[in-house]
Amino acid sequence: QKASSRPATSARLVSPESGRVIRELAGEDDPARIPRPMASGADVDLARSPKTLAMRDRPEGLFEERFTLPEGADPAETLERLRVEDIGECDRCKLSRGRTRIVFGSGNPSARLMFVGEAPGEDEDQQGLPFVGRAGQKLTEMIEKGMGIPRSDCYIANIIKCRPPQNRNPEPDEIAACETFLFRQIDIIRPKVIVALGRFAAQTLLRTNTPISSLRGRFWTYRGTLLMPTFHPSYLLRQYTPENRRL
Ligand code: URA
Repeated sequence: QKASSRPATSARLVSPESGRVIRELAGEDDPARIPRPMASGADVDLARSPKTLAMRDRPEGLFEERFTLPEGADPAETLERLRVEDIGECDRCKLSRGRTRIVFGSGNPSARLMFVGEAPGEDEDQQGLPFVGRAGQKLTEMIEKGMGIPRSDCYIANIIKCRPPQNRNPEPDEIAACETFLFRQIDIIRPKVIVALGRFAAQTLLRTNTPISSLRGRFWTYRGTLLMPTFHPSYLLRQYTPENRRL
C-alpha cells in the first residue's frame, strides 16, 4: 500500500484527523464530548516529583503551588508580571551566559490551544520570540494550514527560555531551573489543549522517559489538561528533504 510505505515523517506534524480533533477540542466546552485521555503520569504532584530542584535553586513560591488566576485578573498582565518580576534578568542556569535574549513565549494570553517546544534557536535568541526561524515556519504551516487556526489565536512557549549553545539538547539542570515558569504560564493561560512538540516537551510535561514515538499522536493529560505530543518541526525538516519528499 502506498500510504503505509511512506516514512513516518511526512510533511505533517499531526495527521489531518488529529488536527481536526485538536481544533474541535480547543473550541469544545461540553465535558461530555471530551475524549478520555490515555492513563498518564501527568497528573502526578509536580511538587513531589523526584526531578524537583533542590530548595536553593527554586524560584520562590512558584513550584509548590499551582497558580490560580484570581477572579477578574488579566492573563496578559499576569504573564507580564511573571516575565518581569519573577523571571527578570534570569541567571538561574548556565544558559544565561550565552543568550542574547530570554524567549518567554508569545501569542494569545487566553489561548485555548497552546504549543510547547524545546528551546530557542538562533533566530529566536536574536528576536526574543519563539518559533520565528525555519522550524517556526513549519509550525505556522501546521497550525494554519493543517489545523485551520490563526497562529495568533494560540500561545507558543518552550520548555527552556534561553538558547543552548550550538542548539544542543537542553540539560536536566537547565530544564529543572526553567520548567517552573512554563508550568506557571500554563496555569495562567489555562489552555484546553496543549500540543507538545518533540521529546523534551512531551517528556517534561508528562514526567516520563517514554520515547516520543510511543507518546505521539494520542491524548494524555498534563495536570488535567489534554495534551498531545507530536514530533518537533525541526525533526520533520531534517527528514523532509527533496529526496524523501517524493516518497
Ligand atoms: N525550536 C524550539 O523548540 N523552539 C523554538 O522556539 C524554536 C525552535
